[in-house]
Amino acid sequence: MIIVMKSGATPEEIDSVEHRIRSLEYTPHKIVGVERTIIGAVGDERGKERLHALESMDGVESVSPILKPYKLASREVRPETSVVDCSGQLVGGKALMMTAGPCSVESVEQICTTARLVKSAGANFLRGGAYKPRTSPYSFQGLAEEGLKLLAAAREESGLPIVTEVMNPREVDLVAKYADVMQVGARNVQNFSLLKELGQIRKPILLKRGLMTTIKEFLMSAEYILSEGNSDVILCERGIRTFETATRNTMDLSCIPILKSETHLPVIVDPSHGTGLWELVAPMSRAAIAVGADGLMIEVHPDPANAYSDGPQSLKPARYASLLEELKPFAELMGRTIGS
Ligand code: PEP
Ligand code: MN
Repeated sequence: MIIVMKSGATPEEIDSVEHRIRSLEYTPHKIVGVERTIIGAVGDERGKERLHALESMDGVESVSPILKPYKLASREVRPETSVVDCSGQLVGGKALMMTAGPCSVESVEQICTTARLVKSAGANFLRGGAYKPRTSPYSFQGLAEEGLKLLAAAREESGLPIVTEVMNPREVDLVAKYADVMQVGARNVQNFSLLKELGQIRKPILLKRGLMTTIKEFLMSAEYILSEGNSDVILCERGIRTFETATRNTMDLSCIPILKSETHLPVIVDPSHGTGLWELVAPMSRAAIAVGADGLMIEVHPDPANAYSDGPQSLKPARYASLLEELKPFAELMGRTIGS
């Protein structure tokens, strides 16, 4: 249910509504808007009619059901776009989230060189995987904690916050010790135990769409994190699997305007995994900005031909720099900015 408070509702009135929601065994999620406060009451779908009793409480303007299956993720509950604070970098506002870096962290030179070069190109986040979800168990699986330490060193040197993947609920605390943003990879989008665990921490989560995930399922996955109390979620479209084999995945750009109207969460695009081909990263980046994406995740490697993973879709740093120069006027047209 959505409980809309009157615009002049006092903090005491808001507190007592939250208290009453808890006493009815629902969880209140308070959203303080510019005009008024809205409280989402979520919990067991059965018996939610009992919440209508709140209508007679002081300070309450209306009580109505949340029609969408995703509650806290929907714009019904929070009409304004959320801005997620990632160690000081704001995602979802005017500045685009430009995250760049190698698929896998390989060595201190590789990650620090990449960090320095993408930062000077205009990136505001460094990406790199220390735990890699590989199709084959015989492929490079990532450097694990050693990789996280190298990412931390690259952050130290470059000042860029780091985005890195967590694959296993058991590793959430360890990855959270190093990461600024915790990535959930496409293959784990419906790993509900992992999502619930990530709902318990106070770190932004970058949730990637799965290879076979509908928009509704994607938002329900975000809802798992939000419903556990972590409201800092960024969504990422990274291509879905279709019958087409010319590209690694098919980038579903129409999901961006749909997501932007359904949810208040920021939405970014990963054209590297979306296409699997470095030559397509530039045109699809332009397209992503044109359809309203809040940022781009792009794989960049100093030596793509010898990358441990995803070389064919990785840009060389110089090409990334020229891409960002080329994207700046596109961003401006959309009322957005890249770099400082
Ligand atoms: C990645 O970001 O390197 C990655 C493995 O992405 P995805 O989960 O989208 O395949
Ligand atoms: Mn990759």
